Amino acid sequence: STSFALEYQKRKKEHIARQYKPRPIELRSDEIIKGVTGLIGNTPLVRINSLSDALGVEILGKAEFLNPGGSVKDRVALKIIDDAEKQGLLHPHTGSRIFEGTVGSTAIIMPDDVAEEKVKTLLALGAQVERVRPASIVDKKQNLAKQRAMSFGVEDSLSDHAANPRSHLLPTPSSTKPRGFFADQFENRSNFEAHFEGTGPEIWRQTNGRVSAFVSGAGTGGTVAGIGQFLKSMDEDVRIVLADPEGSGLYNKVKHGVMFDRREAEGTKRRHQVDTVVEGIGINRLTKNMELALPILSDAFRITDAEAVSMSRYLVEHDGLFLGSSSACNLVACVKLVKKMAWRDGQSVVTILCDSGNRHYSKFWNDDYLQRAGTPIDMHIIEDLLSP
Ligand code: PMP
Repeated sequence: STSFALEYQKRKKEHIARQYKPRPIELRSDEIIKGVTGLIGNTPLVRINSLSDALGVEILGKAEFLNPGGSVKDRVALKIIDDAEKQGLLHPHTGSRIFEGTVGSTAIIMPDDVAEEKVKTLLALGAQVERVRPASIVDKKQNLAKQRAMSFGVEDSLSDHAANPRSHLLPTPSSTKPRGFFADQFENRSNFEAHFEGTGPEIWRQTNGRVSAFVSGAGTGGTVAGIGQFLKSMDEDVRIVLADPEGSGLYNKVKHGVMFDRREAEGTKRRHQVDTVVEGIGINRLTKNMELALPILSDAFRITDAEAVSMSRYLVEHDGLFLGSSSACNLVACVKLVKKMAWRDGQSVVTILCDSGNRHYSKFWNDDYLQRAGTPIDMHIIEDLLSP
C-alpha cells in the first residue's frame, strides 16, 4: 500500500503540473526596496471612476495613503530629517529627539480633539505624545517659544538629563551633540521642497504633462505650495485651486485678501476653538509654506463638513475607495471646479488622497459622532453636485 500511495502522489503531481504551466518571468535585480524609507513616495495616480464618468473630465487622485506611514506626510518627514542631518541639526544614532506639532500625520505634540487612532499609532511607533488645547497648537508665539526651548544645546541637555525621569532613554551626558530638534513643518522649507522635488514631478510624469488644474487643501500649505509651484513652472496655464473646510480663514485670504472678516468671525465657529470633523486642513494663520502658495492660487472653494462626509460615503459605494476627511474635501472641490469652469472633456484635474479612512474611525467615519456634531450624511448632496 506504500507503493500505491507513492504512485498516487506522483500521478497527482504530474496532473497538477500539466494543468498549471508558469508563464515566463522577466528577472529583475532592481526590485528590492532598501528599507522602509524606500517605500516613501512614487505613489500611483488613480482615476476616480465615478466622478470622472459623471463629469466627463478626468479626476485623478495621488494615492498618498499608500505611503508606509499611511499619509502624504511621510514625504515631508523624510525630507525634514534628511535636511536637518545634512545641516548638522540632527545626529543619527545619538538618541536625538525630534519635536513636532501635528494633527497626527507627522508626530508628537497634537491638539486634544484629534482622532484617537492617530495617537495610538504614534505611541505604537515609540513616539511620546503630549496633547494640548487646539488653540495653543496654532499659536505662533508658543511655537516659537517651544522652538527655543527645544533646540537646546549641550548645557541645557546636561541639566535636563539629571531632571528627566526617563533619562535612561537619553544619550549619556558626555554627548557633545545637541539632541533636540524642532521639525516645524509649518515654517520649514523642507516641507515645500519635498513636494516641489518629489510629488510635483511625479504628477507631471504620470499625466504626461497634461494637467488642467491641481486642487488641494492646506494645513501647513507645503503640499499646495510645493506641487503648485512645480506645476506652474512647467505650464503657466495650470490652475492651482484651494479646497478649504468650514471654519478655516484661508478661503477668505485667497478670495478677498484677508484672513477673516468680522461679520464672518462672529457667525462661524473659529476652527481652532472647536472639535473639527475634517482634520489636517484649514487654518487661521499664514505659515511660511502657505505664503509660497498664495501668489499662484487662482481660486478657492469652501467645503462644508456635510459635503466632505457625504463624498467619502459616495466614494466607498461607487469606487470602493475608503478615504480620510481631507481627501474627501479635496474631491468635493474638484467637482465644484469642473462645474464652475463648465469643463466637459479633454481636461484633467489632479488632487491628493492624503490618507485613508482607517485614520478616522472615531470621528469622520463614526456616524454617531457625526450625528452629535450635527453633520448629515446625504448622498443627494453629491448627486446634486454631479448632475448636469
Ligand atoms: N491631509 C492630512 C490628513 C494631513 O494630516 C495634512 C497635514 N496637516 C494635510 C492634508 C495638509 O497638508 P499640508 O500640511 O501640506 O498643507
